[in-house]
Amino acid sequence: MDKPVFKRILLKLSGEALMGSLSYGICEDTIKEIARQIKDVKELGVDVCTVIGGGNIFRGVKGAAMGMDRASADYMGMLATVINGLALQDALEKMDVQTRVISAIEMREIAEPYIRRRALRHLEKGRVVIFVAGTGNPYFTTDTAASLRAMEMGADVILKATKVDGVYDKDPMVYADAKRIKTITYIEVLDRNLRVMDSTAISMCMENHMPIIVFSIKEYGALKRIVLGENLGTLVK
Ligand code: UDP
Repeated sequence: MDKPVFKRILLKLSGEALMGSLSYGICEDTIKEIARQIKDVKELGVDVCTVIGGGNIFRGVKGAAMGMDRASADYMGMLATVINGLALQDALEKMDVQTRVISAIEMREIAEPYIRRRALRHLEKGRVVIFVAGTGNPYFTTDTAASLRAMEMGADVILKATKVDGVYDKDPMVYADAKRIKTITYIEVLDRNLRVMDSTAISMCMENHMPIIVFSIKEYGALKRIVLGENLGTLVK
């Protein structure tokens, strides 16, 4: 049997990753496909935790642009991540994958509050842990939450799922000759302002030597292939 190259992964799913071809909300087939990919990786014996975004429903900056108080708008964004987390939980449990949704903002009726040791215990017991509500603080993003939780959970790597299959030297949607970058340093990402993750998240990963692999979750079986060591996407280290 193929052997996974990671023992524990943190999968960062943006809200957009759940939209499929929709322009808002959650695409049923897309979330099922993501759940299937997570299940495949779990079956290899890998611990999986995931941080889920909310951009498919609401973003704080958008609310602020409409004249809302930024902090309130950010709380709305964090609530959006909870909706996505519950949808992912449902999709996974329909496939008999055990999960726990853990929220950075207490809402005990629908999710466990974040307690680091408890989250670690769930991972040890083989449950997929779905972190929602970001860091629990306004002015942050779920990318930063992903870096933070990856460190706290002792993940080997952050797998950042995007719509594009990695980082390119120029915009692949505009330039036909754009080339995928296989490996890049954190500093280069920051210097060139490449939109891999936001700068707070990249800095945290750099300081704590947490590698990031940017890949497309749309690519067939991509998650499993990466976990088995295939050189897909772009490695930031
Ligand atoms: N958010 C926040 N603090 C956090 C994480 C998220 O305030 O720690 C809010 C913020 O308004 C953000 C929204 O939640 O716009 C959705 O998260 P994000 O934009 O990171 O989602 P993604 O782009 O991954 O879908």
